[in-house]
Amino acid sequence: MRRIIDKLYKENYLDKNELLDLINNITDKDKAYLISRAHETTMKVYDNKIYLRGLIEFTNYCKNNCVYCGIRAANKKADRYRLSLEEILDVCTQGDRLEYKTFVLQGGEDDFYTDDKIVEIIKEIKRKFPEHAVTLSIGEKSYNSYKKYYDAGADRYLLRHETASKELYNKLHPKMSFENRIECLWNLKKIGYQVGAGFMIGVPGQTNEDYVKDLHFLKELEPHMVGIGPFISHKDTPLANEQNGTVEKTIVLLALIRLFLPDVLLPATTALGTIDPLGREKGLKAGANVVMPNLSPMKVREKYSLYDGKICTGDEAAECRKCIEGRINRAGFSLEMSRGDNIKWRRK
Ligand code: SAH
Repeated sequence: MRRIIDKLYKENYLDKNELLDLINNITDKDKAYLISRAHETTMKVYDNKIYLRGLIEFTNYCKNNCVYCGIRAANKKADRYRLSLEEILDVCTQGDRLEYKTFVLQGGEDDFYTDDKIVEIIKEIKRKFPEHAVTLSIGEKSYNSYKKYYDAGADRYLLRHETASKELYNKLHPKMSFENRIECLWNLKKIGYQVGAGFMIGVPGQTNEDYVKDLHFLKELEPHMVGIGPFISHKDTPLANEQNGTVEKTIVLLALIRLFLPDVLLPATTALGTIDPLGREKGLKAGANVVMPNLSPMKVREKYSLYDGKICTGDEAAECRKCIEGRINRAGFSLEMSRGDNIKWRRK
């Protein structure tokens, strides 16, 4: 097993059989070795710096029905909200005071925010904060819409592919198209965004073969960022009674992603911190190098409920920032407050 891990460390690639063998048969001792190799790789590329992104959850309306997600259209119990341009700008001002250099605008697929509205939001943020990066995470749009947002100043786009298995994708996403999701990612790359793909771990029905497909898809796409986290059930979804993903599996996959894509920006996600109080710290030690604290206004925190038990819904932005800094330092890393673009990226 060490031989395979060393090969991955050196070549940043394993074929299907090697990778499946590794995921199927990894022991606790091998895991520790894999994690140490991943950590070494992160240190070589990014040193011990951890980048912060301020997350703004600006709408929980969604037209889709992803079976795992608490804000799916069919969930009539979700208490829906939208933030106005002014509210979003207020949040950015607060974030700027706390030294955030990236604002991530995330939401459901909400047609209330037309392209013109999204463009206005991007332009206003960029006008007030020209040095800051704007990241969008608002789902599948046409090439032209993505292009408009990019031309308005958006720098990055997060769109998890969710799973590289078409079969599993179709089970999880009624009336959506796997091909379209993948095409969106290639379009975003073509336009010039820093692109983030990613997937969940421990979704009902997901197998180790599926993770092999995910890693090979990521290797082919070469995204600048990868977001992964455990699946966590939400009580008002069809997956309410299913098991959650585990920290152990998520950590192994974080380490594998770091070794497949050495210079990727890789968050230790809120979902990972939700299933284990030290989940994010464990993620950082296994190759993650980004944390995305919540900047959303207090009054909407509980409502942006993708899964049950989400942490930090009761902490003011300033507290979140302090808490996260402490966690990063105690885990042996240092907080980095620059924009944190991927080292290979330049705006075209
Ligand atoms: N509408 C946007 C943003 C989705 S929310 C989009 O389509 O990209 C961001 C991510 O949260 C999703 O991509 C999904 O991977 C994750 N997520 C949703 N429900 C979840 C759950 N129950 N457990 C863990 N992660 C979940």
